[in-house]
Amino acid sequence: MSRIYFDHSATTPLDPRVLDAMASSLGGAFGNPSSLHREGRVAREAVETARAQVAALVGAEPDEIIFTASGTEADNLALIGAVRASRKPGHIVTSSIEHAAILETCRSLASTGTKITHLPVDHDGLVGPDGLLRALQSNVTIVSVMAANNVVGTLQPIEELAYLTKLHGVLFHTDAVQAGGKIPLDVNQFHVDLLSLSAHKLHGPKGVGALYVRKGVQLSPMIHGGGQERGLRSATENVAGIVGFGAAAAIAKAELAQEAVRLARFRDRIASELSKSLPDSYIFGHPVHRLPGHFSFGLSGQEREVGKLLAVLDSQGVAVSAGSACSANHAGQPSNVLLAMGYDAEQARGLIRVSLGRFNTEQEVDRFLRILVSSAGQLKNAIPERAISPTVEAPALA
Ligand code: PLP
Repeated sequence: MSRIYFDHSATTPLDPRVLDAMASSLGGAFGNPSSLHREGRVAREAVETARAQVAALVGAEPDEIIFTASGTEADNLALIGAVRASRKPGHIVTSSIEHAAILETCRSLASTGTKITHLPVDHDGLVGPDGLLRALQSNVTIVSVMAANNVVGTLQPIEELAYLTKLHGVLFHTDAVQAGGKIPLDVNQFHVDLLSLSAHKLHGPKGVGALYVRKGVQLSPMIHGGGQERGLRSATENVAGIVGFGAAAAIAKAELAQEAVRLARFRDRIASELSKSLPDSYIFGHPVHRLPGHFSFGLSGQEREVGKLLAVLDSQGVAVSAGSACSANHAGQPSNVLLAMGYDAEQARGLIRVSLGRFNTEQEVDRFLRILVSSAGQLKNAIPERAISPTVEAPALA
C-alpha cells in the first residue's frame, strides 16, 4: 500500500515538471550567471526567467526579487538588513507566534540592543490592530507579521496590519513562506515592503528562497562578496535551484485558485468526519481565516499520547506531524504558538498537524480518516482511566 504524505507544511514533494526544468538546467545552463560569454549568458537568462516567475506569484517587479538560500535566510535578511541599514539598534515589532526564523533572529538582535515587541494573538491566532497601533506609538524600525502560521494555519489580516504600519511610515515585512502559492498574494494590494518565500513549500527544491524588496527600501547585506543579487546576497547563484523555484512558482500561480478549492474541500471533510467519529477532538486555529489544506487538531484527554499516535500512524503508512517540523528539535515541549494562543501546557503538547498538497487524492483522505479514527480509538482504550486528564476547555471541531 502506498504511503499517505500529509505533512506539506514541513515540506512538499518536488513536482515532476519542476524536476524536468531543473534537470535541463543542470545539464545545459552550467555557466556562471556573472560570466559574459555565451555559457554565462544562458545561465543568466535562466535565473532572470525564474526571477520573473517568482515575482509574478506575488505581483512584484522582477528586480524586486532577491534569491536567497532559504526562507530562513530571507527572514534574516529582512530583519537584520533593515536594522543594520537604519544605523541604530532599532525596534522590531513582531507577533508572538512567528516561525523560529523570525523569533530567533529577533532574539539575536536583542542581544545587541535592538528592542523587540511581541504582539499578542487571540485564541484563533489572530494579531489584532490595537496592539500594533499601541506599539507604533514608539519609534519602530520594522514590523514583521507572518501571512500564514505554520502550526495552526491561521491567516493574518496582512492588508490591514501593513496599511496601519505604512500610515506610520514604518517598514512592513511578512513571512509568507507558508502562504506562498497557496493563497493569492499581491505585494501592492497588501502594502508590504518585504516578503519572504521558500521554494520547498510549493513543490520546488529545498535550499532556495526569495525576499521581495520593494523599490527604494534600504537593506544592508548579511553576506558580502561579489555583489550578486543587487549586492544584497553575494554568492554564485544556485542556478538549478532558482530555475526550480521559478517553475514551481509559475505552476502554483496557474493552479492556485482550483487547488485551493480542492484542498479546502478535503480539509473540511476531515474536520466534519472527525467531529462525528472522534467527539473528543477539537481544532486549533481560525475556523475561517486559515490555509486551504491545513488542519490542526487535538484529542481531549489524549494530549500526552500524540507521540505514540504519530508513530502508529507512521507504521500504518501515514505521515503527519506534531506541531512544526522544527518540533523534532524540541520534542515533548509545548508549542509556543499554542501557549501564546491561550492553550494550557497540556493542550499545547497535543497538536496534530495535517497539511495537504498537490498530489493528495480523495481516496487518500478516506483512507487517512479510517486509519486515524481506528488508531486514536485503540490508543484511547489503552490509556488507563486515571491517566485521562479532565475535559479541557477548547473550541468544538467545526
Ligand atoms: N517561515 C515559516 C513560516 C516556515 O514555516 C518556515 C519553514 O518551515 C520557514 C520560515 C523557514 O523556511 P526554510 O525551511 O526555507 O528555511
